[in-house]
Amino acid sequence: MDMNFTADELAFQKKVADFVEANLPPDIRTKVDRGIELTRDDFARWMRILSTQNLAAVNWDKKDGGPGLSIAQKFLAEEAIFLGGAPRMVHFGTRMVGPVLLAFGTPEQKARYLPKIIASEEIWCQGYSEPQAGSDLAQLQCSAKLDGDHYVVNGVKIWTSYAHCADRMFTLVRTSKEPKKQDGITCLLIDLKAPGVEIRPIITLDGKHHFNQEFLTDVRVPVADRVGEEGEGWKIAKFLLGHERSNASYVSINKRNLKKLKDIAADQRVDGARLADEPAFRAKLSELEIDLQAAATMAMRQLASAAADKPVGQEASILKIRVMDALKRGHELMMEAGAYYAQPFEQAQIRGESNASQIGPDYLYRMTPDYFESRAMSIAGGSHEIQKDILAKRALGL
Ligand SMILES: Cc1cc2nc3c(=O)[nH]c(=O)nc-3n(C[C@H](O)[C@H](O)[C@H](O)COP(=O)(O)OP(=O)(O)OC[C@H]3O[C@@H](n4cnc5c(N)ncnc54)[C@H](O)[C@@H]3O)c2cc1C
Repeated sequence: MDMNFTADELAFQKKVADFVEANLPPDIRTKVDRGIELTRDDFARWMRILSTQNLAAVNWDKKDGGPGLSIAQKFLAEEAIFLGGAPRMVHFGTRMVGPVLLAFGTPEQKARYLPKIIASEEIWCQGYSEPQAGSDLAQLQCSAKLDGDHYVVNGVKIWTSYAHCADRMFTLVRTSKEPKKQDGITCLLIDLKAPGVEIRPIITLDGKHHFNQEFLTDVRVPVADRVGEEGEGWKIAKFLLGHERSNASYVSINKRNLKKLKDIAADQRVDGARLADEPAFRAKLSELEIDLQAAATMAMRQLASAAADKPVGQEASILKIRVMDALKRGHELMMEAGAYYAQPFEQAQIRGESNASQIGPDYLYRMTPDYFESRAMSIAGGSHEIQKDILAKRALGL
């Protein structure tokens, strides 16, 4: 990457890279490399290892218990972690509910939840979407009715990433029906072990368990676990969406994919010649690499805005579109590179649990599931159509 990091910053990155090299458990490294589904234990183990160096809440200030890294250090730390072969974290605690509690939480909520987020002792998930409320989130129906010092929650949440690995879910619920739908929404922190919570898996096209649907029946949530005032949920959701869409870490994930793609192109042959030397393929690779360099600059600019407490608004939408499109293009190019041999889609083969002999190199076997998984990335965290609507209105004034 052609950015002028200082020698100290690069030394810091090397320190993080060395730590990852020495401490990423080999079984987790293998799973990430082969595209095998990670369990709750895998995520929790790795997140706790990062926490020992205060590298789980990489974006937090020192005053909040984080490592207090500079903008460049945050970027370089994440890059070292991903390029070192580590998995994505279940980051809803450090990236979402943590910042929300820092901004809106009571002193008791901060004392109760923040230390466990930094130490990776509790895993969180995000319960916003419902079967009839996604892009138009203000349509949400899941209701919470006050009963003494508890809310009683009834409704359904869907597409909840990693709820099956999580201890708690920060949730938007409807506490009243107001003429403006946004005004009747409240944010609650729900214990997923509470009576009345049922989590059902949703298996996606890649054959894996990322998503869940939660059925909430008379779930009692203490009023002390309401964030902000009743009816302030929309304000909190908007604050959080800026963080959700910041997506700077996807630059590093993309760079890891690009490296893999280059390795594959160097290995694959077209009429006896290396695919990496085929002009049309090279041009596509270069285009992707150039786009990633531009996205990296954009990500740094965005981290700088966040550090200066400037709202991360339109830039976040642009970055989200760019990094997720790059991710999809990277996987499309891998499919192109693998050609016919990218087609096998055998979970048992990926896991090394099949006796059938394998055709071609290991890397071919995860291409189709990875490709399918990547298709979802232009929907996650607000679809690209919605991001483009935001840009049209706020940036172009249309
Ligand atoms: C990988 C992934 C992870 C996710 N994780 C979570 C999670 O952890 N927690 C959570 O709460 N949710 C999660 N979601 C859900 C996600 O937020 C929603 O899928 C998303 O907001 C879209 O909502 P929807 O699925 O209801 O689609 P819809 O809103 O029904 O949209 C369907 C299609 O219509 C388009 N569309 C809708 N409205 C407009 C409009 N006004 N203008 C133009 N086009 C429009 C959309 O772009 C989309 O293509 C996740 C989704 C994915 C794919």
